Amino acid sequence: MFVDKARITIQAGDGGDGAVSFHREKYVAAGGPDGGDGGKGGDVVFVVDDNFSTLIDFRYKRKYVAEKGQNGSARNCTGRSAPDLIIRVPRGTVIRDAESGRILADISTDTPQIIARGGRGGKGNQNFATSTRQIPKFAKPGFPGEKFDVILELKLLADVGLVGFPNVGKSTLISVVSAAKPKIANYHFTTLTPVLGVVRVAEEKSFVMADIPGLIEGASDGVGLGHEFLRHVERCRLILHVVDVSGIEGRDPISDFEIINRELANFSEALAECPQIVAANKSDIATEEQIAAFRDYITGLGHSFFTISAATTDGTAVLMDEVSRVLDTLPPIKEYEPEPLSADEMLQRTGADGAFEIDVEDGVYYIDAKWMEPILRTVSMDDYSSLQYFQRVLRSSGIIDKLEEMGIEEGDTVNLLGFEFDYVR
Ligand code: GDP
Ligand code: MG
Repeated sequence: MFVDKARITIQAGDGGDGAVSFHREKYVAAGGPDGGDGGKGGDVVFVVDDNFSTLIDFRYKRKYVAEKGQNGSARNCTGRSAPDLIIRVPRGTVIRDAESGRILADISTDTPQIIARGGRGGKGNQNFATSTRQIPKFAKPGFPGEKFDVILELKLLADVGLVGFPNVGKSTLISVVSAAKPKIANYHFTTLTPVLGVVRVAEEKSFVMADIPGLIEGASDGVGLGHEFLRHVERCRLILHVVDVSGIEGRDPISDFEIINRELANFSEALAECPQIVAANKSDIATEEQIAAFRDYITGLGHSFFTISAATTDGTAVLMDEVSRVLDTLPPIKEYEPEPLSADEMLQRTGADGAFEIDVEDGVYYIDAKWMEPILRTVSMDDYSSLQYFQRVLRSSGIIDKLEEMGIEEGDTVNLLGFEFDYVR
């Protein structure tokens, strides 16, 4: 089965807890605190694996959880950080946040991408010793790892997408110009799996062509199978529109051409604007008049037009040379840019509860509010609107009121999860 969409839950590891421990040695009465910090939780990382061509594995296993960081221990021992959880996907997998639908990453290159971040380890009690508090009997728990659902969508990486009604000869064409061997049969929907073929036009020159399962009218509304597969054409640089010019199935090539284009346009604007080359196939069984009428119509629209017979390979080499020539003038295969989550969405992911604690030590206000961690990670202190957002969160959570109640003054230092700033009213 060809599966090109899946929804899974990913959960990065929690940070290990900080330890409470005191130095003990023979004949030493009361040693200082020596509880170490917890280790970092594992990240969830996605990488390309070219051994996979579908997302079928994700239909069976839906939850992916990275390990927790090790807890800290005595003698100032920091816990071991957990290893990353590596998830292997086929090249061209686009990852979206399930809730907002935003693109998080496009796994098309060999660079591994961190999608969910593990929590930091909690501080051990060794960190909390001060001149006035020599025996801190507390440590901090680890921070939670990010947890959320993602939608994986495979969008094949091909230069050229073959589109056209079922039975017009798309599979036959790819089989004669490349080494790909799709099923060819005289009935509709023979192609249920997209097939990629490498077309070699010269020693050092080739491109990738995708045979997409047949589109039928209404495909862009989800009728039939075509719709599901249109996403594979989305990245293509060029569309090769194959039409049966012989009308052997009792259809009209011009209306076929228009229907398919309408489907492409309904699916996405980008597809409607993608350059097209039109191939009038089955010319071996078409009349001169049929071919001439269709040629006039297509060239009248300004498209380039080729007459071929995939079955006899007549005209296919010339067509492939033209495809290659046009590709040289077009931009590279589209990659999807990640759309960063807003701080609000990040907040939701970690299940923010808004709880906080404030301790004053030597005039410094220490705020412990786990849920602020993802916000701190996204806020840029150089960016005005980002900073404003940060202040809004501090205020709406009641942290500012509490600080003022505790008597904070302009210029006092605030330490929020290790991040220090001056208090400004
Ligand atoms: P697809 O559904 O568009 O992939 O079409 P296929 O490649 O499976 O072809 C459908 C039918 O048309 C098959 O029986 C092919 O043998 C036939 N066919 C394909 N190309 C040609 C051609 O150029 N001439 C003729 N006469 N038949 C063709
Ligand atoms: Mg086919």
